Order: sequence, then structure tokens, then C-alpha cells
Amino acid sequence: MNLIDKIFNAGIAGCGGAGFPTHVKYKAQVEHFIINAAECEPLLRTDRYVMCNFAREIISACEIIRDHLGAKDCIIALKSAYKEEIASLEVAILSLGSKVRLHTMDSFYPAGDEQVIVHEVTGRVVPAAGIPLDVGCVVSNVATVLAVNDALNDKPFTHKFLTMTGEVGEPTVLHVPLGTSFSDCLEKAGGANIDDCFVICGGPMMGKPLTKEEAAKTVVTKTTSGYIILPRESRLPSVHTTPIQHTINRAKSACIQCTYCTQLCPRHMLGHPIEPHKIMRKLACGSIESLAQDPEAVNALLCCECGVCELFACPMQLLPRKVNTLVKAELAKNGVRYPKSDKEYLPDQNREYRKIPSKRAANRAGTGKYYDYKIKTCKEFTPDTVCIPLKQHIGVPAEAVVKAGDKVSCGQLIGACPEGKLGANIHSSVDGIVKSVSDVVVINIK
Ligand code: SF4
Ligand code: SF4
Repeated sequence: MNLIDKIFNAGIAGCGGAGFPTHVKYKAQVEHFIINAAECEPLLRTDRYVMCNFAREIISACEIIRDHLGAKDCIIALKSAYKEEIASLEVAILSLGSKVRLHTMDSFYPAGDEQVIVHEVTGRVVPAAGIPLDVGCVVSNVATVLAVNDALNDKPFTHKFLTMTGEVGEPTVLHVPLGTSFSDCLEKAGGANIDDCFVICGGPMMGKPLTKEEAAKTVVTKTTSGYIILPRESRLPSVHTTPIQHTINRAKSACIQCTYCTQLCPRHMLGHPIEPHKIMRKLACGSIESLAQDPEAVNALLCCECGVCELFACPMQLLPRKVNTLVKAELAKNGVRYPKSDKEYLPDQNREYRKIPSKRAANRAGTGKYYDYKIKTCKEFTPDTVCIPLKQHIGVPAEAVVKAGDKVSCGQLIGACPEGKLGANIHSSVDGIVKSVSDVVVINIK
């Protein structure tokens, strides 16, 4: 069986957040294979834990993937501050006689943005609305590479490493079966230190905001990188719970057109024509709907929603990212896409000076007090029940191949990717009995 078949069978979707099926991504032939090990969200420790503890597995999978992609090199891009991770990878590279290279970067946000990392490593700029493949690169998250190593050993993607931090009893990295509930994860991290808490699924800059009640309904999926527990009165809950009309009214009335949001926008700094201050200016004279008719509004489609403009740049505490997402949704409704071209993009000459230190990003997001901590161990556990969604990836949902009452074992296929469609297989993450099947397969552990 070749690498693509093994990855397809194992059901691997990118662990970095988007969940793009890896067997599709690796169908390319490229010049550079880049591993995103920046873990740029300030509070997460998952990728760092993986690099410290599975360096040999990562390097050996890197070699195989690089050869499969026909790439002339494989570069792991990470921060120079990751001393232990670098040492661990260097030992593995040496002992395996590997040609994998490390590329170190400063601790800035968003070092792990796919387009930023391509530029940092190769000096190339991915065209506006393009992908790394356009400049001869494939980028994979380091945890995805570890999952590929498992796939090479015929082990499906059934478990996930994730960070639990913020106001928890003990910040920790967990290794749990897919489908484990947030509540079980929280309990293993020592519970919440506060009653009135708010949850971010992912990192503070780009994570998904959830109330305690919403979080209680979530489970760990292939793209879950962590949960952050925050006091309700901290900055992020207020940013995320601001009503849309209030966001628009404030944008119309309080934007002073200082242009900081544009000057610090990482995609603008790469030379892409995204200028959030102009979107804010135009909004002052109309509505989201009328703005979407403006020829310049199409540039909002270039926003990667990194959050720099609203959590770091804006002195008026306005929400240009949220406005961009509203404009993007309106444009999508109208069927508008960004007109990709062969134009060459040049980074701004001030880009180096406008990189945002990670710790300052964490501070401005109101999460600075949780920034400095070390993870030494990982907690593993198996809950009594798992609820495994049949869609944990980009594309169509997997189709269930089990029914209530079936006995299943860990690693057994329970959802198959429909033939010829973009998607990924789903496997049972435990030994147990299927309790119910809908868009989620619920399995009780034996
Ligand atoms: S969220 Fe703001 S800073 Fe980030 S890409 Fe979008 S416009 Fe630029
Ligand atoms: S940073 Fe804030 S105030 Fe300044 S132009 Fe952007 S949205 Fe307006």
C-alpha cells in the first residue's frame, strides 16, 4: 500500500485547525515540504509537547513524506525560543542521519500562519487568495506528521493531544480518544478554578468562543488543539459576545482611521491588498450589504481572521476582523470570489519591524497571566462514553458503517469517506458498543 492509501485509510485530516484531508494535500509534487511547528497561538503547548516526546517519529515520517512529494528539502519551522524542542529534534535528526532542516523564527504572532511561514522559510509570497502549492510548497502541522507516522504503521487517527489551560486546576496536555467530552477533559485538568467562566476552543487569538454551556456540548475532534478557561469578565468574552449591530454601530462611529489595523495586518505586510481600515471607512457610509457591492470589498476575502487588528492593533477597541467576516459572508452569499492573478506580491519593507511579540499578543488579548508555564507530562485517559462526529474535516461527512448495538474495537472503521468525494474516514477511538448513530456515533466503553 502506498503512502496516500495509508493516510486515506487512517483518516488523517490536518491537525493545525482547518482539517483538510491529508491524502489530498499530499497528491502534489513540490519543491519544499515545510512543517509548521511554530505553535503560534500564545497559550497552547500541544505541538511543543509532541516535538519533545516524539521527535524520532516525526523526523522519520518527514523523510518519507518529503520523498513522496519529490521535495528537495524538508524544513521544520519553529521558534528559536523552543530550546528543548530544538534539542530533541536535533538528536533525532543526528541519530537517524536525516537531512531534515530546522528553521528558527522569533516569537511573533502569527508565525504559524501558513502564508507567513512559507515566506519566513523560502522568502516567497503566496499570491493573494492562493495556497502554498502556488509557490512550490506543502505545509503540514507537526502533529499531522506524527499522525502520518502512525498511519505508516497502520494505526488509524483515533487519539488527539490537546492543551487544557487558563483557569484550570493544573494546566496540562491531554492525550484522549476522539469524541471525549470537554467536561471530561476539564475534570482531568483539575476542573475550573472559577464558576463564571468562558471557554475558548483553540488559542486566544483565533479560537472559537464558547459559553460554559456550549463548551459542555463539545467533544475533542481531529482539529481540537486545546481549551482555554477564562474568567467571564476578561477581555476575550466581551470581544466575542459583542452583538453584531453594536459592532457595526461602533465601527461606523468610532473608527479614527489611524490605519494601525492595516499597518499591522500580517497579510497586508506580505503585500496582499487587504486594508481593513478602508473596509471600516466604507462601512461608515453604508451597511454590510451595501459595502459588499463595493468593488474594493472583495479584498476582505484575503483576511485570514488572525485577530491582530482587533485584539492588538486597534486603539479604539473596534473589531475590524468581525466586520471582515460579516463582509466575507455577504460576498459568499452573492457568489463573489477573489479574482486570483499571476501578479507578483512583494512584502512591505517594514514587515520585520511590525511583527508582534507573542507575549504582547497574549497580554493584549487579556491572557498574559497564563502565558508562562511549562508542560512536563501528558495525562492519558479513556472516558466512559465517546461521541464521535462523522465530520471532523473539510469536505463531506463520512458515512456510518456501523449501527446501534454493534461491538467495535479501537481503530475500527465506523464512518467511510464516500467514494470520489473530499473527506476523511472516521474510526472508533475506543473498544465498546455503539449506542446510537446519527451525524455522531456514540460509543459506550465496554
Ligand atoms: S484579522 Fe485583521 S489583521 Fe488578521 S488578516 Fe484579517 S484584517 Fe488582517
Ligand atoms: S485600527 Fe481601529 S481606529 Fe484605527 S483605522 Fe483600524 S479600525 Fe479604525
